[in-house]
Amino acid sequence: MLSYQHAYHAGNFADVHKHLTLYAVNNHLLRKKSAITYIDTHAGRGLYPLASKEALKLQEHRKGIEPLWAARKGVSDPLLSEWLSSVARAQPNAAELSLYPGSPWWLSLELREQDALRLCELHPGEHAELDGQTLPEAALRIHGDGLAELERRVPVRTPRLCVLIDPSFERKTEYQEVADSVIYALEKARHAVILIWYPLLPSGAHHTLLDALKASGVRKIWQSELQLREPKTERHGMYGSGMLVVNPPWGLSERMEGAMTEITTLLGGESRFDTRWLVEE
Ligand code: SAM
Repeated sequence: MLSYQHAYHAGNFADVHKHLTLYAVNNHLLRKKSAITYIDTHAGRGLYPLASKEALKLQEHRKGIEPLWAARKGVSDPLLSEWLSSVARAQPNAAELSLYPGSPWWLSLELREQDALRLCELHPGEHAELDGQTLPEAALRIHGDGLAELERRVPVRTPRLCVLIDPSFERKTEYQEVADSVIYALEKARHAVILIWYPLLPSGAHHTLLDALKASGVRKIWQSELQLREPKTERHGMYGSGMLVVNPPWGLSERMEGAMTEITTLLGGESRFDTRWLVEE
């Protein structure tokens, strides 16, 4: 069953959390010249028009990118300011927010000639949309299962590997499958930097992923969570967004805390941001 379409959710608070983390990690990786292979296991479309019928149906970007964009000229945090300038680069008219860039766009942004990028998407319709996006020639689009592709590719030919795992978690078994693939990939590529997104749901389903990673012996797993509200049992649906970064670059936590503190102020309500080590060094 593949019914999830990211176009209904693009630019929401979870995308902001995920793509800002991805940007901060990549920014650090790009300080060194040595080549990087990027694998985006669940790529989605690439660019999402915010005036599409899908985006307008749920309007999730109104409580995500939109308030940040509106405040962009006055933000004080340097990482957030840089990231919002990059969002502006995705717009046909830099003064107006009309497109929200997905992970393929973020990973293509600073792709160098020595790097490789593999974008995996299983849904035929979403893959066709991704195929139609203008991306650098080196961005290889693969129609297939992202975790299987990751397992097939490791170890990679380049000295460094950076992986984004961002499933739709339509099946409960995906939490365990993600953990298994991460453990396998790290056995073959010990220094890989792996980013994993997960939803915070009242069911607490993400604990399967966290517990499996904690029990695996994998070290250096940094965790951050953006909560929009408290997990009240009478309300269903996602109340927050979580990110894990295995082998995080030095200084990531401080940079993210600065940017996300400003973001929670701009998002308002009960929103709050926390970071911790899921597993220390
Ligand atoms: N990573 C994207 C971004 O940040 O812009 C969003 C991805 S969306 C949350 C998840 C995507 O994974 C959907 O487009 C879905 O069709 C796709 N998908 C679901 N199962 C998959 C699988 N086994 N392998 C690859 N893609 C899959």
